[in-house]
Amino acid sequence: MLERFKPTWMIERFSDIDPGQLKAHCIKAVFSDLDNTLIAWDNPDGTPELRDWMAQLKQAGIELIVVSNNHAARVSKAVAPLDLPFESRALKPLPIGLKRTLKRFKYQPDQVVMVGDQLMTDVLAANGAGVRSILVKPLLPSDKWVTMPNRWMGNQVMKRLVSADPTMKWQKELK
Ligand SMILES: [Mg+2]
Repeated sequence: MLERFKPTWMIERFSDIDPGQLKAHCIKAVFSDLDNTLIAWDNPDGTPELRDWMAQLKQAGIELIVVSNNHAARVSKAVAPLDLPFESRALKPLPIGLKRTLKRFKYQPDQVVMVGDQLMTDVLAANGAGVRSILVKPLLPSDKWVTMPNRWMGNQVMKRLVSADPTMKWQKELK
């Protein structure tokens, strides 16, 4: 039961995810959550840090695809300044949206990693789709009220995960 919520890796910020290390793990594409993972509500156009990371991924030949639960109009507007491909209405925590994205972009589950800030949606969906995952800390601690119950449940699950497996710690790099 608890295993379904377990991320493969825990890295504090997206920008600490080294494309070279992703390559070493045979990862060809990063599926990423949008809100509070790549962009924060107070900085909707993305930061120089994000643009720098996008350039590093590109150089490593790793594709970045946004996979969001939001509707197409909202995601399209958000990613427009970043020029990123995206899948909207992903229905996370269900695996259906990730599977749809795998099919559409022609990747196998083991070629992809899902990056996201929520155990209850991003990690659960990744595990359901057989995709490895990286849990990141939310960019901002303040949250939209709609995500607060998920966040609270995520924190409870995290406490149980850590007590069952003390090796679950935030890392600075992929191991
Ligand atoms: Mg999020």
